[in-house]
Amino acid sequence: ARNLVVTARAAPIDTTRVLLLIDDRSDAVRLEAVRRDFVANVSHELKTPIGAVSLLSEALQSAADDPDQVRRFAARLTTEAGRLGALVQQIIEFSRVQGADPLQSAEAVPLDEVLRAAVDRTRVAAEARDVSVVLGKKSGLWTLGDRAMITTAVQNLVANAIAFSATGGHVGLGVRSREGVVEIAVSDQGIGIAEEDLDRVFERFYRTDQARSRSTGGTGLGLSIVKHIAENHGGEVRLWSRVGRGSTFTVRLPETPAPASAAARPSRRE
Ligand code: ADP
Repeated sequence: ARNLVVTARAAPIDTTRVLLLIDDRSDAVRLEAVRRDFVANVSHELKTPIGAVSLLSEALQSAADDPDQVRRFAARLTTEAGRLGALVQQIIEFSRVQGADPLQSAEAVPLDEVLRAAVDRTRVAAEARDVSVVLGKKSGLWTLGDRAMITTAVQNLVANAIAFSATGGHVGLGVRSREGVVEIAVSDQGIGIAEEDLDRVFERFYRTDQARSRSTGGTGLGLSIVKHIAENHGGEVRLWSRVGRGSTFTVRLPETPAPASAAARPSRRE
């Protein structure tokens, strides 16, 4: 209540209008708090890899006479620089999706092609961890929105499924339609998520203790990006998980009929 300022004094007060003004104001206050919070989080998250980079480069200078140490420090420097790069990339992606309204310039999006593109983009990570990603059969389903954003959302889920699987594990990916909603499901048989973390994993920068101790090099932003993208498209993300058994993330989006031109058109790759 401390944030509310009602300016209407003279003239008879129109209650509806005053209520709207109050509401607008608290929305702005809330958004400002969210923004401030985000900047504080980002600064905090950036400090760790930046600190590591500067310590390592100092160590590198003083180890100049010992080639073994130089190699070790240089390798760690590359890792930390990579982490910093990934974090900045995710932060940019996050602020891009946060303000966007993909439905304003929506196009029909072929989900079979989106899933295929997400698998292609995560192939290197899957091979590195010897995880097989199995794509379900073609669905012919479409949704309405921003194709690049939806691809990013699916890609983030597949990347997580790979990262949190055991070496040699399997990841399943498919799409189906239920009552006018398309459901894109990404399943793994990996470490799973404890019940108390199920809601929290969608928060910005939140990573479970298990994830931190595995040092998968994540940023904790991937799922908040997925959630934003789904919600900006009028959809949602659901999560089922059991510790030690695995997880299934489902992105639910409004279904749209295949455009008339789609049947004649050869399938385009991302
Ligand atoms: P990160 O960059 O750490 O993967 P995300 O926002 O994508 O960030 O995920 C947040 C956290 O949710 C992860 O750090 C991990 O603790 C948990 N998580 C996400 N996906 C999975 C999964 N498929 N299996 C187990 N835990 C997961």
